[in-house]
This record gives sequence, structure tokens and C-alpha cells, in this order.
Amino acid sequence: MAGGTAVCNPQPTPIGFPRRFVLLGAPGVGKGTQAEMLNLRLGCCQLSTGDIFRTAKTSGLAAHSPAITAALEFMRRGELVPDDTVVALVEERTGCLQCRMGFLLDGFPRTVCQAGQLESILGRAGVSLDAVLSYELPLDQVVARLAGRRTCQTCKSVFHLQARPPLVAGVCDHCGGKLFQREDDRPEAIHVRMEAYEHSTAPLADYYRKRGLLLPIVADASPEEIFDRTMAALEAMHAAAPKTA
Ligand code: AMP
Repeated sequence: MAGGTAVCNPQPTPIGFPRRFVLLGAPGVGKGTQAEMLNLRLGCCQLSTGDIFRTAKTSGLAAHSPAITAALEFMRRGELVPDDTVVALVEERTGCLQCRMGFLLDGFPRTVCQAGQLESILGRAGVSLDAVLSYELPLDQVVARLAGRRTCQTCKSVFHLQARPPLVAGVCDHCGGKLFQREDDRPEAIHVRMEAYEHSTAPLADYYRKRGLLLPIVADASPEEIFDRTMAALEAMHAAAPKTA
């Protein structure tokens, strides 16, 4: 479900294993990378609201919809897109939320209002969240990650100038595509995004902790190590859950 289309990855995985997740954390903490790795391992449908907006930008969709045009302007400045616009995009993809393989929401919800709306959408779809994976890292480290991030224009693979440099500067290891810096990863936009995160998104950790769904994961390691921590947390949650006969 990255971009406008569903990316289901049906594979045999243990029956009953939790598979309906929200990925929470500051921009740049590595949620997108973890979502891709979880998608490959568990086969859950992956939805990134940020990817939907980026796809709209490159596909020319913005030319047809004033709401999307306005949303892309918010995004360019590093600000959050209004709740109504984002919720409508997710609601259009309710079918993906009902995927039998489950789903991964990356970058949504980002406000308490969106979280409430998500609860209603899921209620109407007859499903519920299994866990909220909360990736945690001090903000100064997050800012350093964002500033060094480079994305492939063609296959969207993500690199980092220091932590995960490409073999050849400016060129994607996987497809040879050109690497670019996202407009909202530039210093002025990073500052705005961090403020939006602290003010609007950080309170979601409490929201989900109170509902018994929060799984905190320290995100201060390599993507592979963070993925191992994620799977260990999910397995521990699965083992502790009451079993139905
Ligand atoms: P991301 O790739 O998740 O960091 O999202 C990039 C940008 O898209 C954000 O900085 C926002 O401008 C916009 N965006 C993505 N998801 C949301 C959301 N759930 N609520 C509001 N704005 C969003």
C-alpha cells in the first residue's frame, strides 16, 4: 500500500501472530525501513501516508485535486497535512486495512485526532490494532539521520551519507538510480517537522500506552539490529497473550 497501490506480500507466517500495527516515532527514526523489513517477513500490507503524498507529487495527481495540491505545500514546508485530508486518504484504503495478512501503518496516525479517527475506521472495518511499535531515539540523533538521508529517485531505496553510504556517491546500489535529498529533509524543514512531532505526534505514545498497545523499541542501532528487537518484542507480546481454545 506504499504510494497509491497495495503491496501485499502473502507468505506463510505463524497463525495468530500479531500483524496489525502502527509504527510510531520521529521522522527519520527508521520507521520506513522497519516497515519494509516487517512487510517482507510478515507479509502485512504496508501503508505510508508520506509515500502516498510523494507518489501524488510525481504522478501529477496534484493537478487534479486542490486538497492534494494544498497537502503537498504543507509537506514541502515540513508541516503536518490537515487531519481531514490524511484521514480521507486512509479511509479510501479501508480494503487494505482488512487484508488477511494484516497491515503496517507508517506515518499514520500523527495526531491524537487521527488516532481517534483510525479507531473508528478500524471499528467499521471489523478489525483492531494488535500493537503500536514506538521507535525511540534522542532528537539530536534523529536530526543527524534526517540531514544525511538520501533516497533513490527510481526504486526509493534509502541510504545515509554516514551510516549507510552508497558504494558510489550519489548512485543507488540496487538499481543505479540517482540519489536525491528529500525537500523536507533540508535544514529549514527539519526544524518545522521536529516541532510538529514534539507538539502533535509525541503525545500519541501516551494515548497508546493507556490502551495497552505500546511496544517501545530503542532505535539506536543498525536497521537489522532494530528489526531483531522488533521481532523479539512482538514474539514476547504474542507469547504473553491469552490463548483462545
Ligand atoms: P513522512 O514520510 O512520514 O515523514 O511524511 C512526510 C510528510 O508528509 C510529513 O512531513 C507531512 O507533511 C506529511 N504527512 C505524512 N503523513 C502524515 C500524517 N499522518 N498527518 C499529517 N501529515 C502527514
